[in-house]
Amino acid sequence: MKHFFRKAASFLILILAFTGALGYASAGADTKVTIDGKPFSDSAVIINGTVLVSMDGLEKAMELEAVFDSQTQSAVLKKNHTAVQFIMQKLEYKVNGNSRMLKGSTPTLLSGTPMLPLRAVAEAYGGTVTWTPETKTAVVHFQKADALPTLSAPKVEPVDGFQVVTIGTSGPPLSPTSTWSSTLVQYQDKLFLVDCGGGATYGLLNAGIAPSLVKNMLFTHHHADHDTDYFTFAIGGWNGPTGRRALNLVGPAGTMELHEIMMDYYKEDLQYRIQYSLPPQGIAKNVFIKELNGPETFTLDGVSISTAEMTHTIDTFAYRFDAGGQSVVVSGDTTYDADLAKLAKNADILVIDAHIPLTGATVIPVMPQIPELAAPEGFTTFKIEQEPDLSSSGASLTRAHATMEEVAKMAKDAGVKKLILTHLPPSGLKQGEVEEFFKASGFEGTVIVGKTLGKYTVK
Ligand SMILES: [Zn+2]
Ligand SMILES: [Zn+2]
Repeated sequence: MKHFFRKAASFLILILAFTGALGYASAGADTKVTIDGKPFSDSAVIINGTVLVSMDGLEKAMELEAVFDSQTQSAVLKKNHTAVQFIMQKLEYKVNGNSRMLKGSTPTLLSGTPMLPLRAVAEAYGGTVTWTPETKTAVVHFQKADALPTLSAPKVEPVDGFQVVTIGTSGPPLSPTSTWSSTLVQYQDKLFLVDCGGGATYGLLNAGIAPSLVKNMLFTHHHADHDTDYFTFAIGGWNGPTGRRALNLVGPAGTMELHEIMMDYYKEDLQYRIQYSLPPQGIAKNVFIKELNGPETFTLDGVSISTAEMTHTIDTFAYRFDAGGQSVVVSGDTTYDADLAKLAKNADILVIDAHIPLTGATVIPVMPQIPELAAPEGFTTFKIEQEPDLSSSGASLTRAHATMEEVAKMAKDAGVKKLILTHLPPSGLKQGEVEEFFKASGFEGTVIVGKTLGKYTVK
């Protein structure tokens, strides 16, 4: 609030200052402009309270590229990836394609010279303008490049072939040691995030991977424990000068809606960030979405991705990644499904849903009756549009997840070399017991109980 008031006050001073000079064009001689301490030697005038300066003078003083097109009456300035476009006699101008409106005078031609609004130009390039009415001086100040903190964009640490990082290994019950479901598949320097359950973005950070580096997001399905961190991932990874500038989304129906809901709900927030400084690319533009309707194969970042429909309570897809003669499969949630064994045939790594404990607690406990409460005073009772269907409450967990016998059968049928168990039961799984169990089931590969932030390679 204090900050706003200070800004509002200085704005008011400016308005008052400009009011004194309203309504006429004053000669350049009594309007002084300095840019970073150096006097602006070209023409500067005040029209309708706006300081206009010559385009040629700006080109020299700000070391930018300036082009005037007399046919379209458009003046374009370019510097450091920022393009500002003015049209003579128009209040609307554009900064990197985004429309803004001038207050006061339009840009105009004076004796054939394009005269541009100083404040709009300075602010588009991160400068500040202070107007001193007594001396009719506009002081423009830009932060020196060497005074800015060095922002080096994070880089992907390449790996040899494929690497899998089990970012989060929990199913819906919360865990103090793991985020909800999320698995990072890396091939050389290409990153693919499969699912983004609660906490996954911080999981990536803890794994030493900047979320901004992940441009490929694949959802197995849209259960909350697989996608609630999407907003943090999408906005947090885009936000900032070295943020993500393009995003590929893959998933079942609902994937586009998830992005749309975020864009709609946060439209004012995102609009503010875009107007403030951030490019729309990576959140509103350069976002490419592929919704899956059935099994298919496509290529992303040079990696071949095949999908198969799984058997879960909603549309769910498993993903197989093939490149350089290696392969990784991530199952998503599924009960026993022969298609998973087919998709994962001879895969080097299969990351599989192993939600049911070895000894199999297969029935979800039925909850006791819970009374409906009266709203606290001044509160409105939230009403859902549709009452939940309670007809199948207490359904067997095996309707949604495979038993450990079935997990072992799918892995054995597929002949996978390394099996990584994830989406673990809240009670956890013991590595030794799991190894014994899988050996006894006839699975000959390596079986690993996935760890939070565990890194696994093919070899
Ligand atoms: Zn799940
Ligand atoms: Zn699920």
